[in-house]
Amino acid sequence: MTLDILIRGGYVITMEGPGTGVINDGAVGVKDNKIVVVGPTSEVMQNYTAHRYIDAADTAVMPGLIDVHRHTGDTIVRGCAQDLPDKDWMFKGVLPLLSLATPEEIKLGSKLNIVESLKTGTTTFGDIYTPMLEIVKNHVDLKTRAVVSGMINQLPPDTSRIDPSVPYPLDPAIGQAKLLDNIQLVEQYHESQNGRIQCRFAPHASDMCSEELLREIKALGDKYGVNFFTHLSQSPKENNQVMMRTGMRPTAYLEKLGYLNDRLMVAHMTYATQEEVELVAKSGAAFALCSNSLCIIDGELPKGQEFLAAGGCAALGTDQAPGNNCNIMFNEMKMTALLHKFKNQDPTIFPAWQVLRLATIEAARALRMEDKIGSLRAGKLADIILVDLDQPQMSPVTDGPIRNLIPNLVYSARGTEVKTVIIDGNIVVENHELLSGDEQQIIRDANAASKRISSTLAESEWSKTLPLAQLTQEGYY
Ligand SMILES: [Zn+2]
Repeated sequence: MTLDILIRGGYVITMEGPGTGVINDGAVGVKDNKIVVVGPTSEVMQNYTAHRYIDAADTAVMPGLIDVHRHTGDTIVRGCAQDLPDKDWMFKGVLPLLSLATPEEIKLGSKLNIVESLKTGTTTFGDIYTPMLEIVKNHVDLKTRAVVSGMINQLPPDTSRIDPSVPYPLDPAIGQAKLLDNIQLVEQYHESQNGRIQCRFAPHASDMCSEELLREIKALGDKYGVNFFTHLSQSPKENNQVMMRTGMRPTAYLEKLGYLNDRLMVAHMTYATQEEVELVAKSGAAFALCSNSLCIIDGELPKGQEFLAAGGCAALGTDQAPGNNCNIMFNEMKMTALLHKFKNQDPTIFPAWQVLRLATIEAARALRMEDKIGSLRAGKLADIILVDLDQPQMSPVTDGPIRNLIPNLVYSARGTEVKTVIIDGNIVVENHELLSGDEQQIIRDANAASKRISSTLAESEWSKTLPLAQLTQEGYY
């Protein structure tokens, strides 16, 4: 058989089996959008020829990284809501700024954010945002794989004056508009682009939607046969709001509404009890572990370790730029390992091989796509990255009796070592150059949009009450 692409002579990290499944001097063959063969280079070369050969000497060849929980649309205000008290991050940090951005500006920020991750090895994005009808076009253009949903809530545009001690002023008209967008998204994009784009419904969190809306979203997901994302017990505010409105805590409330099953992925559960974590894990729902984001926003680790210990399926997410500040999965892997080691005062927690699984095969499982992506195996979709090991921070490479490849990838790589990215059989990054878009133009466009938002902010009186504007004024930033 003649392949389209044959990558040969690399360290092939298959992510098959219980660990990372490394083949020294391995090869991967691609035809159309599928992986056809994976094995030792000598064997593969005996049986296959190719239209194009990629020499992978001094290179790790591995599945594309999967970021299961992400809000690319927040990027236009990257770095503008950092180091705030956790009670203020959302309502006095991020949301007031984003309320000044137009859908087009949010789309430009999202595109920048996708490029940041694509060039550092992320091939699949669990992207949740409103207006997703705009943002999804970025995934189409840049040729990324994405599981997308609108983020449905009923919050008013100006959240800076919300008093969390009384029930939120939910606005049904806002919820309906966002729901209609999500319906259109599903009808227009689900399974589109050769299956690269999958859609879901995503109630933002149970405190930000009325019961009527939550029931409507659930019924629509069932009708269209698509899955769900939501945030769960992400703040004490959420627990209090749901308790005020329903007399229940968010987990019990979602269970009552029929959400807790293997079609749901939840994020965070930072303020859930151990019993709640176990209940969700046993329900079959998946968990998005966003360690960096929650440490920056809340100074807390989300309940991923507990979720895994309860037998649940968890995977890594980078959440959003104004929280995490950085949407590079190599950074997420390293920090996830380090933060959990520190929390547990135990260096054996979250070893490198495990966090790499949480960014690849386990992430595919969490998205219910393990039969398609997450490992290098004949028959799976061709989402493959090549990582340059011929770099000071990646050297030396030892093959045995100790193989240091996986620790080096998790603890040393910064993401910039990724030189080639293949998604669905298409080469979208080659020799560090983005082929599916004009990177410099994308950066320029996002900077121009950010400047416009800043000048609108400068004209408003209320901007002076924003904590980071005050600290900037005082010379701290
Ligand atoms: Zn999130």
